[in-house]
Amino acid sequence: MLALHGTGVSDGVSIGKAFVLQQDLPEVPQYALTAPHIEAEVERFADAVAQARRQLRYIRDHIPASAPTETASFLDTHLLILDDPMIAQAPVDDIRRHRCNAEWALKTQGERLSAQFERMDDPYLRNKKTDVNQVVERILRNLLLADHNEHEKLAPGEIVVANDLTPADTVILKHKRIRAFVTNMGGPISHTAILARSLGIPAIVSAHSATRYVRHGEDLIVDGKRGVLIVGPDKQTIAAYRRLQQDIGARRKLLAKLRGSPAVTRDGRRIALLANIELPADVKAAAQAGAAGIGLYRTEFLFMNRAAPPGEEEQFRAYVKVAKALAGKPVTIRTVDLGADKQVDGGRGAGAAVSINPALGLRAVRLCLRDTTLFRPQLRAILRASAAGKVRLMIPMLSSQDELFRVLDLIGETKSELRRKRVKFNPRIPIGGMIEVPAAAVSADLFAPYLDFFSIGTNDLIQYTLAIDRVDDAVNYLYDPLHPAVLRLIRLTIQAARAARIPVAMCGEMAGDARYTRLLLGLGLTEFSMHPATLLAVKKIVRASNAGALTKFARKILKRADTGEVHRLVDGLNREDI
Ligand code: PEP
Ligand code: MG
Repeated sequence: MLALHGTGVSDGVSIGKAFVLQQDLPEVPQYALTAPHIEAEVERFADAVAQARRQLRYIRDHIPASAPTETASFLDTHLLILDDPMIAQAPVDDIRRHRCNAEWALKTQGERLSAQFERMDDPYLRNKKTDVNQVVERILRNLLLADHNEHEKLAPGEIVVANDLTPADTVILKHKRIRAFVTNMGGPISHTAILARSLGIPAIVSAHSATRYVRHGEDLIVDGKRGVLIVGPDKQTIAAYRRLQQDIGARRKLLAKLRGSPAVTRDGRRIALLANIELPADVKAAAQAGAAGIGLYRTEFLFMNRAAPPGEEEQFRAYVKVAKALAGKPVTIRTVDLGADKQVDGGRGAGAAVSINPALGLRAVRLCLRDTTLFRPQLRAILRASAAGKVRLMIPMLSSQDELFRVLDLIGETKSELRRKRVKFNPRIPIGGMIEVPAAAVSADLFAPYLDFFSIGTNDLIQYTLAIDRVDDAVNYLYDPLHPAVLRLIRLTIQAARAARIPVAMCGEMAGDARYTRLLLGLGLTEFSMHPATLLAVKKIVRASNAGALTKFARKILKRADTGEVHRLVDGLNREDI
């Protein structure tokens, strides 16, 4: 029995068998062939291509019902690329001409193609190199006998152990109903960790050598609260964790009774508890938790794991589905926040944009303003969906007024276009801005006159204020929602919203962490949006708190400069009967 420690990012205990996800390809060898072996090598290459074709057809013919509808066209694109002479023939010519091995011929041809795509002006075509790279990788794996159908082999109930998982990987895991996951890398507010919380499964990140110590099929216990992974547990340990599982189950049952109770503080302040969702299917969990609406719909997940971005119609259908399912409750659709750790292909393909500091790069609204071919169809789709329910539109990562004005102009143009075409939409659709860049928090009063609401994105606000990359486990230890600088920015934003008489919500992970609920109530926050799995625990605290009395304590906490003392005071706040 062995215990490994990492960062627990999603509560709960899971006991099950390990599925170790092999992600890295072995190094590609290069060797020269003698004349009699050349045709055999050509044949070996052709076999690998044929095997890739069979694999792709098999996957296409066995698409699970829960997979996104575009999965089939994504696979068809890969089949077409596979048969293109640039993939199927060029390496053969190279094997014959240069007398090199098949892997090397394919690798160098893949690199040449990648460079050609990279030079293309059209961003959509440039993006296509990701597909080409994925096809090249599939054939390479066949040649290297590496196991590459990893995701497909996963069975429900297994515990995934991987070096790292991208948000795109995690979406695939979501369909596989895995029991828990553990990664060597990652941070607690990475989108991968956020997805684990949305799945409601235990997860541990930055368990540094997990893939080294865990063997396929081995028994594991994942303690997502304490961040402990137990490999090969003995009978007593399993029994102890089974009891813990039962306790957790009993506590969840008790919480479930609060579903229909109002989220009102003891002194009568009504608090709105909304849900964050990534996919339309998540609406079910939001309803089960009794959410008062959707405070954050991360639309970028609609753009992942596919060959082409979703068109206006497909987006419209997804947004309408959510709006209708919410039956009159608010649905806050955030415009696409791609970039940084949320790449369409998971960022792993060689096609991923290479930026030294992706979190500071072309992300979210910056990307949308640079490439309006991506943005305009989404604006049209959201506006059209606003006729079907209480839809609000939210802009991520605003950092300057100029950026906001450019987005508002585009929204204005889109509205005019829809009016001209006599397409229905809500002309007074509320437009909100995420306050998640320190520049926006500091100048929230300058944004407020032009927006209908704010939503504080603490994940990024903390990342950018404290200068810690949210996916870099080396600086995880610096992540702290209670850092005085973070608390001041939150207060500043709430004050600016109040002065301008616009609502302010919080939709970062801090909003769903019950340890901070009382402090946030004390800071005057009345709208919280979080993963459905955490909503009832927050409601329990809300109902047991006196918001008026908490204001005084929050003021005191905000005066403290020492982070350790802030932590002690917040702990005290949670223990006292206020
Ligand atoms: C945030 O930054 O707090 C947020 C809610 O957005 P995301 O986590 O998707 O960046
Ligand atoms: Mg954010």
